[in-house]
Amino acid sequence: MPRLFGTDGVRGVINQDMTPDLALRLGKAIGTKFGRGSKVLVGRDVRSGGDMLVKAVEAGLLSVGVKVFEGGMAPTPALQYATKTLGYDGAVIVTASHNPPEYNGIKVVANDGIEVDREIEEDIESYFFENRFNTTSWSESYGEVRKEDRVVETYVNGILSHVDTAKVRSKGYRVLIDPANSVGAITSPLVARALASKVYTINGHLDPLFPARVPEPTFESLTETSNVVKALRPDLAVTHDGDADRAIFLDENGVIHWGDRSGTLLSYWAHEKNPNLPKRIFTAVSSSSLVEEYLGRYGIGVEWLKVGSVGIARELQRKGGVAGFEENGGFMYPPHQFVRDGAMSMALMLELMAFENESLSSLFSRLPKYYLVKTKVPLKGDVNKAYESVRNAFSSSARKIITIDGIKVISDDFWFLVRKSGTEPIVRVFVEAKDESLAKELANELIKLVGESQ
Ligand code: MG
Repeated sequence: MPRLFGTDGVRGVINQDMTPDLALRLGKAIGTKFGRGSKVLVGRDVRSGGDMLVKAVEAGLLSVGVKVFEGGMAPTPALQYATKTLGYDGAVIVTASHNPPEYNGIKVVANDGIEVDREIEEDIESYFFENRFNTTSWSESYGEVRKEDRVVETYVNGILSHVDTAKVRSKGYRVLIDPANSVGAITSPLVARALASKVYTINGHLDPLFPARVPEPTFESLTETSNVVKALRPDLAVTHDGDADRAIFLDENGVIHWGDRSGTLLSYWAHEKNPNLPKRIFTAVSSSSLVEEYLGRYGIGVEWLKVGSVGIARELQRKGGVAGFEENGGFMYPPHQFVRDGAMSMALMLELMAFENESLSSLFSRLPKYYLVKTKVPLKGDVNKAYESVRNAFSSSARKIITIDGIKVISDDFWFLVRKSGTEPIVRVFVEAKDESLAKELANELIKLVGESQ
């Protein structure tokens, strides 16, 4: 059976792979899975083709007897939160998250707001490829698409219910938001307005062409944002990806802090706020070992998982914990919802600053210092041979070796991850060490080892 769903929904270039024909049939397949009479919310990000794909999905859903409610443009976490709290059986979200502007996509969400499991995707794929769709007679097909206009309000109020708004407001913070010209612009300024004394946005008008920066927050794409922060010196700056489930923070000096660093601070705060939740967090092997080093000081355990947010969300939900996160800026706060949420992350970070009475740069300076080297090696042959030779070379010097997704080696002074890319024929090598020359030395050694042993 061919695959349709990737790691986070169906994605493709608009009007090439991601066509209204595909969206229509996918809508029929998804609607067949949800079942006749089920209530499904449909929403989208700002992307080009969004309205076309929404209409096609809705037509597919209606044709198989589903009750369709249109939530309009909103961040993915807002639509997920609305699905859960407004009593929907599920949702279809038209978004390509952080992908380049020419992409769009479709993701399916269960009634708890979390992306559906792989098994459900497989059922949808089989209906799609085998043309097995529910049918409805003419007399059943009078349903209309209804408007759901409570998504933004429900979501913003939900976030604010989890933080001490009076305490944060009393600090008079100035906050800058960069939502990448996408749907974060609809909600994050509203959340910030309730918590801060001044709210600034850049790249804050909705624009499907993404004229200012690509939708993925990276050190390169945030260079201009960093310059604005250096000039304006807000107390906190937050940037989102195209569907605002990620938050990458900049401190008042314009320094960009990667998501495993902010995730670590937010996990600490999530534990302080919720001492009764199990003292553990869930993150992917691609996160820095500083996570374990810092949170260990507070007795918070770290469970290392495969890369991919859905697996993290499901484990967090199943086993319980104070948080789950990815190094790319996706942070999950269980009292709110078990999915990544950019605006919730912003609200929690402001609350942490307020209660600890510290600037953002000062909070980040609590974390252990590591030098990062990110590189890649062409994938030539059997990646498992490369993993094996890395294991042999480091088995004596490692404190911990994790092999659930590539090979991660943790030592007292360094850690590294060697992992085959899921999307390109390359092997990624991430190295962090407390000493810059050690990081470079290790990276060179690994490039040689991985290159020669495949
Ligand atoms: Mg995203």
